[in-house]
Amino acid sequence: MSHELRVQAVSQVTDRKPLPPKIPQRLESLWATDVFTLSKMQASLPKDVFKSIKKTIQTGGKLDVSVAGVVASAMKDWAISKGALYYAHVFYPMTNATAEKHDGFISVQSDGSVLTEFSGKVLVQGEPDGSSFPNGGLRSTFEARGYTAWDVTSPAYVMETDNGVTLCIPTVFISWTGEALDKKTPLLRSIAAMSKAATRVLKLLGHEEVAPVNSSCGAEQEYFLVDAHFAHNRPDLLLTGRTLFGKPAAKGQQFDDHYFGAIPERVQVFMQDVEEKMYRLGIPAKTRHNEVAPGQFEIAPFFEAANVASDHQQLIMTLLKMTAKKHGFVCLLHEKPFAGINGSGKHVNWSVGNATQGNLLDPGDTPHSNLQFLLFCGAVIRGIHKYGPLMRAVVATASNDHRLGANEAPPAIISVYLGTQLEKVFDQIKSGKPESSEPGGLMDLGVDTLPVFSKDPGDRNRTSPFAFTGNRFEFRAVGSNQSVSGPLVAMNTVLADSLTWIADELESKMSSGADLSTASHDVLKEIMEKHDKVVFGGNGYSEEWHRMAVEERGLANLRTTADALPVLKEDYIEELFNRVGVLTPVELESRFDVYSEQYILAIEVEAKLVINMAKVMIYPAAVRYLSELSGTISSLKGLGITLEQETAEKVAALVQSMMDSVSKLGAAMEKHDFATTEEHMQYSAQTIRPLMDKVREYADALEEEVADDLWPLPTYQEMLFVK
Ligand code: ADP
Ligand code: MG
Repeated sequence: MSHELRVQAVSQVTDRKPLPPKIPQRLESLWATDVFTLSKMQASLPKDVFKSIKKTIQTGGKLDVSVAGVVASAMKDWAISKGALYYAHVFYPMTNATAEKHDGFISVQSDGSVLTEFSGKVLVQGEPDGSSFPNGGLRSTFEARGYTAWDVTSPAYVMETDNGVTLCIPTVFISWTGEALDKKTPLLRSIAAMSKAATRVLKLLGHEEVAPVNSSCGAEQEYFLVDAHFAHNRPDLLLTGRTLFGKPAAKGQQFDDHYFGAIPERVQVFMQDVEEKMYRLGIPAKTRHNEVAPGQFEIAPFFEAANVASDHQQLIMTLLKMTAKKHGFVCLLHEKPFAGINGSGKHVNWSVGNATQGNLLDPGDTPHSNLQFLLFCGAVIRGIHKYGPLMRAVVATASNDHRLGANEAPPAIISVYLGTQLEKVFDQIKSGKPESSEPGGLMDLGVDTLPVFSKDPGDRNRTSPFAFTGNRFEFRAVGSNQSVSGPLVAMNTVLADSLTWIADELESKMSSGADLSTASHDVLKEIMEKHDKVVFGGNGYSEEWHRMAVEERGLANLRTTADALPVLKEDYIEELFNRVGVLTPVELESRFDVYSEQYILAIEVEAKLVINMAKVMIYPAAVRYLSELSGTISSLKGLGITLEQETAEKVAALVQSMMDSVSKLGAAMEKHDFATTEEHMQYSAQTIRPLMDKVREYADALEEEVADDLWPLPTYQEMLFVK
């Protein structure tokens, strides 16, 4: 009986010992050992070849194809010395996954002997049979050619698993006709476009030397760990990554005793294992801690250039899942694995800067007089206001919908938090000229032995989806399971658009005689007059804000993915991506097609599983309990005891209601005739999801009534607290 599996799981988990921790190594001896770094290239490449490739990597020049052969050969020798027999072009299709096709270095000679071979052509370009990747109509299967092309700016590395070593080469993935089929191509384009626009503004500000501008990303990854013995007894966790059933445990996170608590031993050994791999792969793991919910943790690397950070983020997700397995855990990256306790997000910290001017979002001590900062920050405010619905659309997934808008994660309304100091500066801009910045000041703690603290000029606001945090913006609405590329593309694109507008305005004002300062302040004033509605410093969770945002400020509140994704089809969004040169209309449309299909499919899979689990797991348990009860009822009848009768009636009623809801859900899923994808998405959101919730409501109520020794599914209490 399945209940026995559950009991067995509890004792197996209780008996588990942490794996022996790895012998700690010095960071210097681990760092980037598995990466084909610039310094490894320098050591193995002829001087001129190295110079050429370095130039491409650092300044974004065109790749000189003639050097590829030399690089390929050095890369192959290095990979073989690390034990690799295979190489893979790694790419990032429009799902949030990472894809790789492995090929051997082997080359069979005419005499039957073998050599290893890896030519420049093979390094630069690959041709995986891409017909099975979602392409949103960009490529029909009969013309299924898809190409991968080497992205020199993200270093190659070897991936070592228990099954062998593979040389991995980050690539873009494009169709035979040159359209982007992946998440990397638009990201690279958005960085280039942003750099171009930022350079124009910086030149107008009087800088003669302006290095290429890049965006940086530091992503904080939240995740849950559940013991594999439990997860394997939960079809819902295995197939959908979240619990479709489950009554919350009596204790959740109400005592706030998990957040930043001591990390459980087994988890700490797991984390160290992940971090060692990250260091070897040149990923700068920096922060780890317990998160708010029991069983929830966070890992954050130090920020890096957006393109590399994005590839590294994908690797982190892979490493977390892979390493968890080894330690007897299942790592859940789903945004809402458990009802009633916090979900997981991925805060994307984002800034822009370059080698000559530094971080362009650094306000310095006196932001009111820092024209460069004000223009770049103003550009962000304008972009997030003008394209708020786009920002919502790029974090729209079936799983993230459980988080956004709930009272724990940022609301689905996109607003910008600036902090008190900056809010005041921008208020001054609106009403005239900024004259002052409130200093952060010092905090005396009243104890001589404690240092005097310098206070940040702005507090934090956890309820804001898009918050300025000192020298960067933190986009908090991103889902834990998502690739960070989409959000980065959106941020870079709207910034490129705003900076272009600012450059145009400055040029025109200055050519009619205005000086730089006057022109800049006029531009900033105009930005604040039109766009300050997006700036909000209060409680983003409050009902008052939800009302005010929509009714008074005209901000969109796109609650579900079904509401948000159609934004990608709007003319002004199509025009934006096309003008900035990030996605053609066809490419953008394909994204709408792929993402909406994923949304519909995700809900369909869940709904099928709800029906299945209700029928074959929960219903039988409840019926067995009923039959037990009816035995006692008849034997107790003569004694006039009615309690069992009442319980039996209650259970019977719940079973009936649950099965009625199952039938309704089943019937609802029969509908297939939708006029448009939009209509289908709305149906999933408005009809299917509520019916699934209904089934769950009755099932969870049954979990309260049915004898524990008959219940087949590992409970919330077990999964979150048995360690
Ligand atoms: P929090 O207090 O928000 O939880 P963390 O320290 O966990 O902060 O994460 C902050 C993230 O922001 C880290 O990845 C960090 O490297 C990154 N970060 C710091 N400065 C910048 C910057 N200028 N641009 C982008 N990311 C940054
Ligand atoms: Mg954060």
